[in-house]
Amino acid sequence: MGKHRPDALAPRYLEQFRCIGSACPESCCTGWTVSIDKASYQQYRQVKIEPLATLVRESVQRIPDGTGRNYARIRLGQDSSCPLLDEQKLCRIHSELGEKALSRTCSNYPRIYGIDDDRHIASATLSCPESARLALTEHTALDPITLLLPFANAQLVPLSYKRMKPADDQGDPVLVHAKLIAHAVDGLVRLPTLNAAQSLVQAGLMLRRLARIEARGQAGTLELARTIEHYLAPQHLANVPTLMNNLPVQRTAQLSMLFETTQRYLSKHGGRPSFVALINDVQAGLKLEQGLESAVANLDAALHQRWSPLEAQHPQLLKNYLLNDLTKSLFPRQDILGIEREFMDLALRFALIKFYLLGLAALRGPDFGIDDVVRVVYVVVRNIEHNNSFMTAVMDDLAARDALRLDVLATLVL
Ligand code: SF4
Repeated sequence: MGKHRPDALAPRYLEQFRCIGSACPESCCTGWTVSIDKASYQQYRQVKIEPLATLVRESVQRIPDGTGRNYARIRLGQDSSCPLLDEQKLCRIHSELGEKALSRTCSNYPRIYGIDDDRHIASATLSCPESARLALTEHTALDPITLLLPFANAQLVPLSYKRMKPADDQGDPVLVHAKLIAHAVDGLVRLPTLNAAQSLVQAGLMLRRLARIEARGQAGTLELARTIEHYLAPQHLANVPTLMNNLPVQRTAQLSMLFETTQRYLSKHGGRPSFVALINDVQAGLKLEQGLESAVANLDAALHQRWSPLEAQHPQLLKNYLLNDLTKSLFPRQDILGIEREFMDLALRFALIKFYLLGLAALRGPDFGIDDVVRVVYVVVRNIEHNNSFMTAVMDDLAARDALRLDVLATLVL
């Protein structure tokens, strides 16, 4: 590597991440369209070792008009797995040609890179079971570190997200102070006095106020600073846990919104087998066939008897999920008009994960534990990331019920 190798702000767990290969419960090489970049495609065409050469010729196909990172793709086998895996489910490219021969997609996954102004940000998608395990199980996994990146220079870092420095004449207070807002939300999620759902609701309340700032320029900045100061003031935060604990949560509305939305999506579009299996477990745990009233009682019992004790012991579980999602998406990137919807997208992913967790907890009873949380997170994140239509359909469905508002947030997540 050259002396210009860039570094990035990254969560601690990324430093420890290693693919666990054949021990992986749901390999990324299954059911996923893998894009192959032009340089890798050309290198693979030169392979002479058999049977790899034939396998590559048969399964790596040019994309008509494909360029750059999307030059070709791997055609999956009938069982939806990558045909380049050997009997032990290990990648033949990796084992026979070496790590350097992996395509960009394969060597980068699950890592995601972004740039915030001029600072590189690295994180990982939790659709990988191993990155989910590392990120969720350790209390300090989301602590920031500086990580040297595996690229010879900054131009080679594949960027998924960008948040550029606002222009000097930018008047939108949210765009001008995006970093400050990100910092404030991060601080709320890390607060030890709030659980993950409570911190999300508190952040949502603050963002709802920020989204209503009418002034622009200096006056807007002043109002934004005052709002953040108010929501982060120790005397204000001291009352939040009591207020949240006393908030009436309409569990029937929560259940019907989140479960019916999921079912509607599945019946129209289907889902990955692991996601369908999870939803079947949720349905069995809540015993929905016995009616809404008993399902709500089961949901409540799962919350108080299974999830809350586990979360009290391991408060980082869903907090780290949230912190990772905030970092990975470089929240906020939208202007004052878009910040509510941008946040609701993130909050809805959290709401679905927590809801499925409760359904699974109802099924697993006293056996419910950390491994179940890791399973729910990677299965849901994978389903969302592999089906572009999933979040759009779910968001549209809730918007049609007028539920896509920050004031409905508490009902969805608490
Ligand atoms: S999902 Fe993660 S652990 Fe599993 S094979 Fe892919 S990179 Fe490795």
